[in-house]
Amino acid sequence: MSALPPPPHPDQEKLLYKLVIQFLIFCQGSHKLLEPHLLQIGKRLKSGANLNELTPELQAISKTLLHISKQPEADKKDTGESRQNNYLLQRLDELLADSDVPLRFQQQKAALRQRVKTNADDQSFNKVIDSAVALLVDIKDYAVSEQKDIGGFLTQLSTQLGELEQHVEMVGYSNQLSFDQRQYLDVEINQQLGDIKDDTRQAEELAALKTITGEHLDRLMMQLMEHKQQEGERQLQAQQQIALMTEKLQALETETEALRTKLKIEHDRALCDTLTGLPNRLAYMDRVEMEANRWKRYHAPLSLLIWDIDYFKPVNDNYGHKAGDKTLILVGQLLLNNCRSTDFVARYGGEEFVMLMPNTQAVQAFAMAEKVRALIEKCGFNYNGEMINLTISCGISEFGSGDQHDEVFVRADQALYQAKQAGRNRCVVYRNDPNLPPA
Ligand code: GH3
Ligand code: MG
Ligand code: MG
Repeated sequence: MSALPPPPHPDQEKLLYKLVIQFLIFCQGSHKLLEPHLLQIGKRLKSGANLNELTPELQAISKTLLHISKQPEADKKDTGESRQNNYLLQRLDELLADSDVPLRFQQQKAALRQRVKTNADDQSFNKVIDSAVALLVDIKDYAVSEQKDIGGFLTQLSTQLGELEQHVEMVGYSNQLSFDQRQYLDVEINQQLGDIKDDTRQAEELAALKTITGEHLDRLMMQLMEHKQQEGERQLQAQQQIALMTEKLQALETETEALRTKLKIEHDRALCDTLTGLPNRLAYMDRVEMEANRWKRYHAPLSLLIWDIDYFKPVNDNYGHKAGDKTLILVGQLLLNNCRSTDFVARYGGEEFVMLMPNTQAVQAFAMAEKVRALIEKCGFNYNGEMINLTISCGISEFGSGDQHDEVFVRADQALYQAKQAGRNRCVVYRNDPNLPPA
């Protein structure tokens, strides 16, 4: 039996342990056959294994080292430049495998990978690297120009879509568009847009996308333009018809307006006294009917006054008809300007005027008439430098129960007669007027 070797001194063991670790670090990346062993030992060291426990792994690495040392000289020279080249090629292959290059560079990429794998000597290594760099530069240039193209293409697309939108808006605003045509157009647009979507999803390259989108947009534009043209023609026709109708309508309106004005003028003329501008006898007849009806309905007092210029005939005779006319105009204005706006004054005929005073009792009418009479007396009518005496008489009667307006008129006329009889230039309320308090 051979005796066991004495256990190593703890310091020796520490030194050995240190040496093993340094050796392992040194060997890292030196030969591909060593890598699995180094990995395994690294793991074991991390989990706290001592030298004794590492024996199997150390023996294995020792065997591998022996194997490597027996390999031919060329193979053994797996160090320095050649080792680094291999590493670079491996990394390059990984990079190519992972990279998602554009479709047009796929073939170049596959060829390059093939060359990476079959790389033989240092000279071809340099060529592979040059090719890889050239490929990468090409891809970069392509990406830059593609980006530019995409920018341009998107601008163009957005312009076209803007135009399209405008057309659609115009079409949308058209009221004349028939329902069927609108539906047809809707279907067409949806179809085209659907096609654009599908094709866009399928298209892998910008050039193809451009072509497809352009074609669709052109078709859409064509359809819309066609539609717009038809629509324009229809609208033009409609507008022409509307213009024609409007013209006819305007002519009719003008005619109607002219007729209306003529009628009004004639009506006004019929109701107006041309000399004084006051309402005439006909107008009085209308108005007295209305006021009498109101009086009947509301029972508010209503008085009727008849005015007659005193000795008017001599005015005509002495100063001429013109003077007479001027006198009539002046008296008419004085009567009109000195009564309330709710009162009514008309030239009844000749030098006679009639007045209706709503909401006015006979006594109140008398007071007011007296003021006007005094005013006319004092106005001093001057004709061509000559003073003409001008006085007026007035007969007053108030509407009483059961009265018809012509009855009241007769009473007022009788009162006027009384005023004339009593010497003129005076106002008289009909003596037996039913509304007057007993004398
Ligand atoms: P009295 O005081 O009694 O009323 O006397 P008078 O002269 O006013 O009455 P009369 O009825 O005799 O005369 C009325 C005159 O009024 C007769 C006519 O020449 C005149 N006359 C009537 N209408 C017009 C008119 O439109 N213009 C002019 N200038 N005179 C008219
Ligand atoms: Mg008279
Ligand atoms: Mg008179």
